[in-house]
Amino acid sequence: MSAQRSLSVLGATGSVGASTLDLVRRERENWSVVALTAHSNALELARLAREFSAEIAVVADEARLPELREALAGTGIEVAGGCNALIEVAGRGVDVTVAAIVGCAGLAPTMAAIEKGGVIALANKEALVSAGEVMTAAVAKHGATLLPVDSEHNAIFQCLQGNDVAHVRWITLTASGGPFRDWSWEQLCAATPAQAIKHPNWDMGAKISVDSATMFNKGLELIEAHHLFPVGLDRLRIIVHPQSIVHSMVEYRDGSTLAQLGPSDMRVPIASALAWPERMNTPCDPLDLAAIGELTFRMPDEVRFPATRLARDAAHAGGAIPAVLNAANEVAVAAFLAGQISFTRIAAQVEDVLNTYMPVPPASLSDVLDVDSEARQRARELMEAA
Ligand code: NAD
Ligand code: MG
Repeated sequence: MSAQRSLSVLGATGSVGASTLDLVRRERENWSVVALTAHSNALELARLAREFSAEIAVVADEARLPELREALAGTGIEVAGGCNALIEVAGRGVDVTVAAIVGCAGLAPTMAAIEKGGVIALANKEALVSAGEVMTAAVAKHGATLLPVDSEHNAIFQCLQGNDVAHVRWITLTASGGPFRDWSWEQLCAATPAQAIKHPNWDMGAKISVDSATMFNKGLELIEAHHLFPVGLDRLRIIVHPQSIVHSMVEYRDGSTLAQLGPSDMRVPIASALAWPERMNTPCDPLDLAAIGELTFRMPDEVRFPATRLARDAAHAGGAIPAVLNAANEVAVAAFLAGQISFTRIAAQVEDVLNTYMPVPPASLSDVLDVDSEARQRARELMEAA
C-alpha cells in the first residue's frame, strides 16, 4: 500500500480482531495503531497494545480497568474503561476502523467512528441489522466509507465493482449450512452448545457459531445485504454451499454471474477491506480447486431452520423489527450457551418476541438502543414465563 494509515480495532481480542492484527503484524510499516479495545480480557488487550504500540487501550468492562492499567504501567500507552470511554475513543478519527465487536454492543462505538467519516471495515453485522437506515444515513451524512468484512458481503461488494446495481438480477448469499445442516429435527432438539460452536469450515467466536448453526447468521446477513446493496429484498436469495469456497454471487440481467471464491479464512475479506481500493498480501493458501474437487449447492430448508424466514419477514416489516429480531436472538443465544434453553427454542423464542411486540420505527441512535434494550427485556420476560 502507498502510505502509512492509522487504524483502530474495536473488538481486538476476538476472532476477527485477531485475524486483522495478524495481517497488520505482517505489514507493520503500513499501519499506525491508535486504539485497541476489548470487553473484559485486560491481559490479552495489554499484550496486543504493547505489541502494536497502540496509543490507547480500552476495556469496556470498567471493573477490569485497574488490571489493564497495571499491565500497561510504564509503557506510555493510555488506558480507559467503560462504555462511554469506548465510544469516545472510537470517535477519535482514524483512517480505518475495524468494527469487530460482537452484538448490538458494537453499535454506539461504530456510529461514533462513522461520525468521523473515515473507512469503517464492518464485521459487526448486528449493529447494521439493528440500526439499518439510521446507520446508512449517518454514513451518507458524514461521508464515511462502509466496507463489508463479512465474507459474503465482501464478495458481493467485489462482484459489484464497476457495475451498476440497476443491472442486477439476483444477489445470492451462500451459506455453509452450519454444523447441523444434515441433522434431523429430533437431533436438533438435543443439540448441545459444544456441538453448535464446532463449525465445520470456519473458526469463529461463540455467538456467530451458534448463529451459523441456527441459520440466524444467514438471516442477519440477508438484512445486512439489504442495507448495503440496494437492489430490493426480492432480488436477494440464499443458497446452501457446504464447502464455503464461493462466498457469494451477483447475477446481472445479461445472464453473467460473477462470484468471489477463496479459502474459508476471514483474513481474505479483512485484507480486501483493509487495503481497498488496493490489494495486500495474505498468508492464506492459494485456492486449489482440483484438490477441493467438488462445489455443491442446494436450497435451504426453512422448516428445520426457520431463522431465514423470520429474518426475511423482519426485513420486509422494516422499522424497528430487525432490531427486535436481533435483540431477541442475542438473548436466546446467550441462554442456549448457558444451558437454559434448547437449540430449537432459539428460533421459537425469537418468533414469540416478534409476535408480541411492534415498536415504532427508530429515527436516531438512541431510539435504536431503546428498542434493543426493551426487546431484550421482553425476551427475558417471555423466557421466564415459559
Ligand atoms: P468474538 O466473540 O470472537 O469477539 C468479539 C470481540 O468483541 C472481542 O474482542 C470482545 O472482547 C468484544 N466484545 C464483546 N462484547 C463486548 C461488549 N459488550 N462491549 C465491548 N466489546 C465487546 O466475535 P467474532 O467472531 O470475532 O465476531 C465479531 C463480529 O464479527 C460479530 O458481529 C460477527 O458476527 C462478525 N463476523 C465474524 C466472523 C468470524 O469469522 N469470526 C465472520 C463474519 C462476521
Ligand atoms: Mg458471513
